[in-house]
Amino acid sequence: MNKPDRWVIGNCKMNGSLASNADLLEAVRGKPASSVKVAVCSPFPYLNQVQRALGGSDVQSGAQDVCEHVSGPYTGQVSCAMLREFGTTVVLVGHSERRQFNGETSELVAAKATAALAAGLTPVICVGETLAQREAGHAKAIVAAQLSPCAALLVSSCANVVVAYEPVWAIGTGKTASPAEAQAMHAFIRAQLTAIDRSAASISVLYGGSVKASNAKALFSQRDIDGGLIGGASLVAADFLAIISAAGGAVKNSMRYV
Ligand code: PEP
Repeated sequence: MNKPDRWVIGNCKMNGSLASNADLLEAVRGKPASSVKVAVCSPFPYLNQVQRALGGSDVQSGAQDVCEHVSGPYTGQVSCAMLREFGTTVVLVGHSERRQFNGETSELVAAKATAALAAGLTPVICVGETLAQREAGHAKAIVAAQLSPCAALLVSSCANVVVAYEPVWAIGTGKTASPAEAQAMHAFIRAQLTAIDRSAASISVLYGGSVKASNAKALFSQRDIDGGLIGGASLVAADFLAIISAAGGAVKNSMRYV
């Protein structure tokens, strides 16, 4: 059984400028070599700048969304092939802000992930419950329902898929799931994936939601947490680099893959 890759992925959201990106990308490009896979997901207009700034480095360029269609009358949308032309290798699908503000359903998210895979991109499928859903005791059912339309592609393409668990109540709020809370949901997600197919145990499952340099190591040391999807802290080079370093140094408290 292959061990899941460790990832740290920055989500810049709708932040940045040519000037501020240049400083951030230069700092991230200079990160020490490690086995942790690193990507920066930028707004579409900056993908050309990112391609030039990260070219030849081991930091990957990512996008924050993609259209499920190949081409055609979809005003304002961006296709997988367009992303590929700008050197993009990773794409977030189903981020909670897109589910919330753009009405994206889990079926649409699965269609986007399928299109990304077909184009050779790595989709990062984001799932997570709201505070009301957690308080009602529905967190696991919600996450299972969000993953369900992706079941077929999770089996057929698990080597190229990443899942990110991002409790909505922890995104951008400063409230983080405790390492034990996060681990409990990650173990549940891992069980869901392996119930679909045993080989899906090699899918990386990342945690996202107010990860900071100060809490990254405790989260990433959990048995089923394979790294992080980082919003706010990815905009500050020193914090993002410290989180990458925490992912490289976190010692797993299990021998799951030995
Ligand atoms: C995110 O946007 O995916 C995220 C996790 O944001 P933050 O780290 O700011 O909570």
